[in-house]
Amino acid sequence: MLHKLESTGTELPLPLKRFRSEAGAATAIAAMEVAADRVLAACGLQSGHERLRVSASELCRVCDIRLEGAPKRTAKRASRGLSSEKFSGHTGSLSLDPAQPLIRLPAGIDFVRARIAVGHEIGHYLLHRRASGIDRFTARLESTPAEEAIAEYAGRVLLMRHAYADTSYASNVVLECMNAARRADVTLHAAAARVGDPDVKSFGSVAGLILWRINPAAARDAALASRLTPSWHLCGGAFIPVGRCHARRSSLIAEVASSSDGNASASRTEEVEIGSLKGRFRVDAVAWGSSENGTRLVLSAFLEE
Ligand SMILES: [Zn+2]
Repeated sequence: MLHKLESTGTELPLPLKRFRSEAGAATAIAAMEVAADRVLAACGLQSGHERLRVSASELCRVCDIRLEGAPKRTAKRASRGLSSEKFSGHTGSLSLDPAQPLIRLPAGIDFVRARIAVGHEIGHYLLHRRASGIDRFTARLESTPAEEAIAEYAGRVLLMRHAYADTSYASNVVLECMNAARRADVTLHAAAARVGDPDVKSFGSVAGLILWRINPAAARDAALASRLTPSWHLCGGAFIPVGRCHARRSSLIAEVASSSDGNASASRTEEVEIGSLKGRFRVDAVAWGSSENGTRLVLSAFLEE
């Protein structure tokens, strides 16, 4: 969304304009990459460390931000597997006290969500930080969708800067995405969003990703394809009828979903028509969970050839 705004020359909200011009960058996105890279370098993480997981409290420490309410990483979480729900990072709160900024996390937040929330709030902080300190004027302005988008982007860059550095168009994007989510301790949604980020060039042009789940309202004896419906999507401007359409019987999505393998993955080029997402795409898909008890999920990616 932000990338589109900037590439069409649309006027940005003031905080993004000031941030961009102070950085002397061509775009706010490029300015945020530089700002995030400085934070990562201060944590001792430069390229070549892409496999290392950056700690959220370490990110706060190098930014001199006080962090309240950070949960501990528990063994329970490791066994529970990937968090597949859609989740935006805007759940913590940031107060830009010039003496010491503070990020407060809500009580009971789980470890993975806390990481994303911290990344997001550091994004807001970086946006309002100037060489001379916090920009008190922009910090007081109500946030905008563009500011939220750049804060989300900053969070993904901080937590997954080089997550896809070693991968290429030849690999199954969805498998890479699941590996990245595990390695970086982020949600599947965040790792999927990272696939389409402007600084990620590994996969060529990605039209989008869709997570499919079994619609609990669908008849249990119906074909699996007709029970699968989009749960969330990252398809840019395309309209995807979440919860209101189903997978096509002959689609790769239906195929991996009905595979007898617990974890099934596949890739092929086929005609796609899901809402307004239409065309011939290379589809990468992975299915996991059980169709018996309604927990089967399929994550699919649509790549331009
Ligand atoms: Zn926010």
